Amino acid sequence: MLLSVIVPCYNEEENVECFYEELLKLESFFSQKELELEIIYVDDGSKDSTVPKVRSLHQKDERVHLVSFSRNFGKEAGMYAGLQKAKGDYVVIMDADLQDPPSLLPEMFSYIEQGYDSVATRRVTRKGEPPIRSFFARLFYKIMNKISKTEIVDGARDYRLMTRQVVDAILAMCEYNRFTKGIYGWVGYQTKWLEYENVERAHGETKFNFWKLFLYSIEGITAFSTVPLAIASFMGVLFCIAAFAAIVFLIIKNLIYHDPVAGWPSLVCIILLVSGVQLFCLGIVGQYLSKTYLEVKRRPIYLVKEEL
Ligand code: UDP
Ligand code: MG
Repeated sequence: MLLSVIVPCYNEEENVECFYEELLKLESFFSQKELELEIIYVDDGSKDSTVPKVRSLHQKDERVHLVSFSRNFGKEAGMYAGLQKAKGDYVVIMDADLQDPPSLLPEMFSYIEQGYDSVATRRVTRKGEPPIRSFFARLFYKIMNKISKTEIVDGARDYRLMTRQVVDAILAMCEYNRFTKGIYGWVGYQTKWLEYENVERAHGETKFNFWKLFLYSIEGITAFSTVPLAIASFMGVLFCIAAFAAIVFLIIKNLIYHDPVAGWPSLVCIILLVSGVQLFCLGIVGQYLSKTYLEVKRRPIYLVKEEL
């Protein structure tokens, strides 16, 4: 049996070798289970010496492979490329920064042996992360689970061991706007969840700043929920009802109490409010439209510059 390990890397020069050494500490476990190993580093257009480092690993050990992109396409594209290249009967995706501890692999594999199709991990703490980031991350998962039918687990990592069947199901979803956490939920299959305490990055800095995460969250929402569109229609109905009530109120006030409406400030406020809501709803529709536009163009998810 072959186990493919996919490692998306973006400027991870300090981590490439560290990760390799850490993974090979499990060599005895692999041979005990008669697992052949294949390590696929997916270089996501790194500007540092990530690629030369992987090349020299490949020369030393031919189980190490490389897919190098022509530019930075994002981690989602990296994972997709890795899954496409993987030949394994079992496939696992792991971050290069050792935040997905390889030491969990034997336990994960034992669940696959018990008949689970995939073993997923989630971190129960967010120790070492800025509190603001944790707060918004939690908020995102809360909202997401309210508005989406697909289950997206709070704290879920992309660290997951899967059987070939699950990998093929994920590969069949060749959408351009990828949100893997949702895709995992959408394809289903029997999943075992393992929990662990957050581990801090081995070297270097996180590649996801707040803005990137915010855009990613919009990706997730538009890809796995249409509730925002319904909210737009709902607001329209709500405002019609409010306007109707206001008209009735003004007519009664005018005809019965002979007290006509005075002043433009109220008018300006109403116009601003209503046009604000209109633009907001238009923006929501625009988000879906723009995602559809990108999807329809059928551009490739990534472009390869070098492959080993
Ligand atoms: N990564 C990538 N492309 C990107 C950003 C990140 O392939 O555009 C990789 C990165 O090298 C790492 C993994 O994705 O192996 C997770 O990134 P990071 O550790 O920066 O995210 P965090 O753990 O802070 O959420
Ligand atoms: Mg990380």
